[in-house]
Amino acid sequence: MRVVKSVIQIYQPVSELLSLMEIFKEMVNDCIKTGLENNITSLKSLSNKSYHILEKYDALSYYKLTAISSAVGILRNYRKAQRKNKETKRPYLRKLKLVSCYGLKIESGNLVIPTTKEPIIIPLNGHTKRTLSGYTIRSFSLTPRTASICYAKNINQIKPTGVIGIDRNLNNVTCVDNKLNKNIYKFDKITIMKREYKETKSHLKRNDYRIRTLIYTKYGRRQKRRTVQIFHNASKKIVENAKETNSAIVMERLTGIRKLYKKGNRQGKNYRFTLNSWSFAELQRQIKYKADWEGIPVLYVNPRGTSSNCSKCGSRVIEWADRMVSCNNCGMALDRDVNAAMNIMLKGASWLDADGISKEAMNRNIMTQAMICRVNPQRR
Ligand SMILES: [Zn+2]
Repeated sequence: MRVVKSVIQIYQPVSELLSLMEIFKEMVNDCIKTGLENNITSLKSLSNKSYHILEKYDALSYYKLTAISSAVGILRNYRKAQRKNKETKRPYLRKLKLVSCYGLKIESGNLVIPTTKEPIIIPLNGHTKRTLSGYTIRSFSLTPRTASICYAKNINQIKPTGVIGIDRNLNNVTCVDNKLNKNIYKFDKITIMKREYKETKSHLKRNDYRIRTLIYTKYGRRQKRRTVQIFHNASKKIVENAKETNSAIVMERLTGIRKLYKKGNRQGKNYRFTLNSWSFAELQRQIKYKADWEGIPVLYVNPRGTSSNCSKCGSRVIEWADRMVSCNNCGMALDRDVNAAMNIMLKGASWLDADGISKEAMNRNIMTQAMICRVNPQRR
């Protein structure tokens, strides 16, 4: 299996590079135009139709090919949005960029970008050089401010002997493995921080959209950077733990969360704010790519019933105190989040049975604990 990661650095573009980006943008827009006129979204037919149109541009054929594939991506997203009946504008690439996966190399610490004339050289900083050393470089993507370089390695996925279930909540992430070890990473800081930023932004009195955009962008960026950093700490530890215990990672398949907290759903403003500012996908994204890099399998399971059913017998649970749940059927009493994480872990374990993790190992581990879990909890 090939896994890919990327590293980003900030740089100063030379004027030749900016004009190359301008050419690239025009080529992409020409391809989009051809695609729309002929109603094409496949790479092959768009290449056939538009390659000769791109002949007038003074650029290497590398960039013509990547311009076509960039256009295909944009056209596909446009079609997808149209199918969902979203409001769509005619697609057009506005930002300057340059993408390529051909002909690039790193020579004595510089990224060398081939052109029709002299190659353009971007000096790489120490961090980028250290990150890239020892890996094969796949592609680069440049904007006038940042250079992002993709690197790859081949890895064999591990055969897991355990499972870790991960339940993501508003204020924490709870991990439970098949030996029932618990790990809880708290995110109270994020919730508090988001409230603080909201408060800061509310002091803005002037109702001028230009200033409002400026201030909101500034605080939005700062808030995002701080949140992402906290997630990185947690996701790193989760993946390290999975690697040590040779476990697969199981998470909920979360879709349509934003739909639940829309205006008009009869929920309070503050409640909607809290749940809509919940960055549920970011942590999953980080765990997924970090786990892929280590060859750890990641599974997504249906979240249905994970927080409302008992992890021991499958009956419905009752929440009786602050985030504590109990089951009337078997008398289990547990933390709400731990119960949910256990349900996710068990769902994942029953999936993994087929390949990899052996059922005996699974059952034995759980039997040794006070808690005896059914492998496949079902709703009654
Ligand atoms: Zn029960």
